[in-house]
Amino acid sequence: MPNELWDPKIESMQPDKLKALQLDRLQKLVRRAYEKNAYYKKRFDEAHLKPALIKTLEDLKKLPFLTKQDLRAYYPFGLLCTPLDEIIEVHASSGTTGKPVVGPYTKHDVDLWGEVMARSLYANGLRKNDILQNSYGYGLFTGAHGFEKGAQKIGAMVITISSGNTERQIDVMKDFGATALACTPSYSLHIAEVAEERGLDPAHDFRLRLGAFGAESWSDEMRRTIEKRWGIVAHEHYGLTELIGPGVVSECSEKKLHINADHFLPEIIDPDTGETLEEGEQGELVYTTLTKEAFPAIRFRTRDLASITEDVCACGRTHPIQSRIKGRSDDMMKVKGVIVFPSQIEAALLQVPGVSDNYHIVKTKQKDSYTLSIEVEPSEDRFKEGHLDDFEKRAENEIYRILNLHVPVQALSPKTIPRSTGKAKRVIER
Ligand code: ZN
Repeated sequence: MPNELWDPKIESMQPDKLKALQLDRLQKLVRRAYEKNAYYKKRFDEAHLKPALIKTLEDLKKLPFLTKQDLRAYYPFGLLCTPLDEIIEVHASSGTTGKPVVGPYTKHDVDLWGEVMARSLYANGLRKNDILQNSYGYGLFTGAHGFEKGAQKIGAMVITISSGNTERQIDVMKDFGATALACTPSYSLHIAEVAEERGLDPAHDFRLRLGAFGAESWSDEMRRTIEKRWGIVAHEHYGLTELIGPGVVSECSEKKLHINADHFLPEIIDPDTGETLEEGEQGELVYTTLTKEAFPAIRFRTRDLASITEDVCACGRTHPIQSRIKGRSDDMMKVKGVIVFPSQIEAALLQVPGVSDNYHIVKTKQKDSYTLSIEVEPSEDRFKEGHLDDFEKRAENEIYRILNLHVPVQALSPKTIPRSTGKAKRVIER
């Protein structure tokens, strides 16, 4: 029954009841943060705000934003709203662009995480009789741990293989009879590539039927490529260390990203002015964690661009729907006055016959602007055919059709671009 809900009472609750629940939780959260945390108290005092002034959900707008810079300033435990000895688990982002973001969890928070992850995976169709190969990297990163907690809560078997050692991934997937795979979308394609090199057909020689992918932005075209190559249904997951890790949304059988809005209160703002935007308008996603104890985020600016709607969904869930992430505002490039997101380039490239899923977007800085070029691998077969200038021309035309921008494309020999077992690096700067 793909349309069964993990928690029908919550997931299909009437929107007005959901809003009442959100308001009650928001008021308690703001009171707690004000009383328990020096940072929040200072910020509210500066804005002349007392928790009692939050009377409606609209009043959320009065609260100051929380930014990544704030988190870094209070690294590692300055935003705790509980005593340190209440913490039983801690995660952190990689910190490649500065100090890592730390996510501490109380027992309550760990249980909550398992619950929202179970809800997400159940919405994807994961059930007790499934065997989930968990190929996210274990470690400080939240990914692997969230998927493990949720799948175990459903009662599925979890293969805790972590990322890497791709040959072994294939043996284990086959021998243990994995029916579901959790990893980054790009790593799933690398596993398929290595399986094919061993003479296996990913779509027919495995029991896999479901993919739970995240931690990377990927286009709808990439999703279709993965589904075809593996013969599976591929689902999107969204989350951030700052919020809880994965588990913020539940993608249903209609491939709609229902926000778990009883725990995560979303807003869309204009990234330049900070003004709240209307339903359906695209802007920056802002989240407030309504129920987390240790490290609640109030109006956290995600830098991710999306829109939110409250459409009725055939799956029966009533929670608001988040669009797929158009890009991170950090990834947005301005080339000759045109706004370009890496996902648009990916969508264009994947229209080209004989293309592989391995490509680089090369940014070259020139004074205060960028020029772009693309390096892409054709498939082995397409490469052997020759006439690669036709292939390049076709790719340039597809990009022009989407962006109205001429971007030179260079075809590389197969296997030139390094493969990743985690987040793929698609954009490189020279
Ligand atoms: Zn739905």
